[in-house]
Amino acid sequence: MTDYFEEMNFQPIDEDQVAEHQLMLMVRFLRQSGYDELDMQFNTDRLPPPTSKELINNLKSRLVKAHDEKCPICLAPNENLSDETFLTLPCGHDFHNECILPWLNRTNTCPLCRSEMKTDDEEYEEAKKRKQRKQENIETLHNSMFG
Ligand SMILES: [Zn+2]
Ligand SMILES: [Zn+2]
Repeated sequence: MTDYFEEMNFQPIDEDQVAEHQLMLMVRFLRQSGYDELDMQFNTDRLPPPTSKELINNLKSRLVKAHDEKCPICLAPNENLSDETFLTLPCGHDFHNECILPWLNRTNTCPLCRSEMKTDDEEYEEAKKRKQRKQENIETLHNSMFG
């Protein structure tokens, strides 16, 4: 496994230090090598839970004409002559349907901007709310001191 990383000429990514571009590379890498690699390369327990099924089902989709736009994940120009389906995430970024769906079924962040989407995991949602409240308290405190 260590040889693998050397051969691929990249370092294993520390989840806590994943920068935006690294996350993008990761999704791209997974897209190219198959999403099953995710279990092998990363501890998926440490990823946030999958995006809410309901949210996924209600994502806006649009048809993109052949050769018109590149998907940020596969970067492949549309080689097909037919139109392709792009899905638009709540943050406004869009990707090929087949590039983003397997990712959203794993975790809840946009690979481009890392904005989080709703999940079906109640525990996670609760923890997120607690974290938000804490953040708000810090901001309030900060504003009262410096505002
Ligand atoms: Zn794509
Ligand atoms: Zn985004």
